[in-house]
Amino acid sequence: MLPRVKTVLGDCEAPLVCSLLGEIDDLADVRTWVDETMQDEAPGVARDGGFVRDGFDTELDELRRISRSGKQIIAQMEEQERVRTGIHSLKVRFNRVFGYYIEISKSNLHAVPADYDRKQTIAGGERFITPALKSYEERVLGADERSVERELEIFESLRGRVATEAPRVLDTARAVATIDVLAGLAETATLANYTKPHVHEGDEIIASDVRHPVVERLAGGRFVPNDVHLDAARQLVILTGPNMGGKSTYLRQVGLLCLLAQSGSFVPARDAKIGLVDRIYARVGASDNIARGQSTFMVEMQETAHILNGATSRSLVVLDEIGRGTSTFDGLSIAWAVAEHLVTSPRARPKTLFATHYHELTDLADGLTTVVNQHVAAREWQDEIIFLHKILPGRSDRSYGIQVARLAGLPPSVIARARDILSALEQDELGRSGRPALSGTPAAPRQQLGLFQQTSGADERLRERLREVDINRTTPLDALQLIAELKKEAE
Ligand code: ATP
Repeated sequence: MLPRVKTVLGDCEAPLVCSLLGEIDDLADVRTWVDETMQDEAPGVARDGGFVRDGFDTELDELRRISRSGKQIIAQMEEQERVRTGIHSLKVRFNRVFGYYIEISKSNLHAVPADYDRKQTIAGGERFITPALKSYEERVLGADERSVERELEIFESLRGRVATEAPRVLDTARAVATIDVLAGLAETATLANYTKPHVHEGDEIIASDVRHPVVERLAGGRFVPNDVHLDAARQLVILTGPNMGGKSTYLRQVGLLCLLAQSGSFVPARDAKIGLVDRIYARVGASDNIARGQSTFMVEMQETAHILNGATSRSLVVLDEIGRGTSTFDGLSIAWAVAEHLVTSPRARPKTLFATHYHELTDLADGLTTVVNQHVAAREWQDEIIFLHKILPGRSDRSYGIQVARLAGLPPSVIARARDILSALEQDELGRSGRPALSGTPAAPRQQLGLFQQTSGADERLRERLREVDINRTTPLDALQLIAELKKEAE
């Protein structure tokens, strides 16, 4: 095939292909050795011989001739003995213990000649040998054994010879392997409509209509492409949106975009400017290492630690959910601190995509200018959720987890109960304090229900009485008295 590879690629002008072609050695000499020695259809194992060509070695040819003629003579003997004894069912057989023997069935034992030497009785008859049979057996078996030995000698010597040319074989194999990879990338780029990325030294990763190379194939034309824009001014994207919306897919497609571009491939996008990255760090999916004494959460944290300790400002980090494996507040706190660290650390500020269902994290963008919120669009329609898979600017404040759980087949009673609990939780949370105040940075004004927001007659009276109180003239005793009265009224 090597000459054909060279011919097929002969017209290529790409410098890399040209230099690889230069590294391909036809290995014509090696090929001739193998070709002259080995049969075209050699058996898979050398142990039993049968792989060296006839005519290659005179000793082997002679041994094979003896073996073949010996077998022929044994076949003739069978015929002669049948005629001599008149036993039509007489058979010459072979096994590893006795070698060749003559088998006579019980009903014919009376016709066995005197020169037959009985060797074994079996259920259906008896086995005999004769001096003539044994002498041919020695010839045949001796020749067979020696011929396998001789084939192995020839094989060893061929191997030794080829091994002396190993550097040429390996260099050629390496060049062919690289051409194979390039051809694979080129074919995919043509068939799947990829474009040539502009890979540069800056820190911008900007691409439009990016697709996931695998999911787009499975989606059969229904894949929704998305843009990406990361640079020093848009360093960390907090990506929120419904379950099943396409966050993980988006994170991975951006990672693959950079990986493909940097490995010399075209990319599944309309256009792409890819700043070189030194590493792609990914924290995705749940995995554990229970056999080595580490829990799922422990592994998640170890991976996160590895990222925070290793990432540089030239790295790309994709974080798919952090802090899900522990209590809500612990997880949220860790996720918040990790995101904050990635944009404020003086040591390294890697470009980061951070997918999360902790909607509180979107508040980070209010105080940190390099944090950007994006969300995956979804639409609710008659209590159904429609996934649009489109990444848009801004935050999302819902995960539609219960709708997705219903799609997944959770029993209706469980879904109904979950809705009740959710609604109670939401009311309670708002009624108490709004969102947990996590940010040290100024956040958007929070919606908070005031103590007396819902006014009734009784509320008004309480308000009125409070307004009338002159704090400067109220003794502690009066104050206690007032609280007791207000409390009574409130009940
Ligand atoms: P979760 O929050 O539940 O983990 P997710 O937002 O990470 O969900 P993905 O796992 O990325 O969602 O996507 C869910 C499914 O949606 C995928 O299996 C994929 O088939 C489909 N999908 C994702 N992105 C797209 C897209 N851009 N176009 C078409 N289909 C998509």
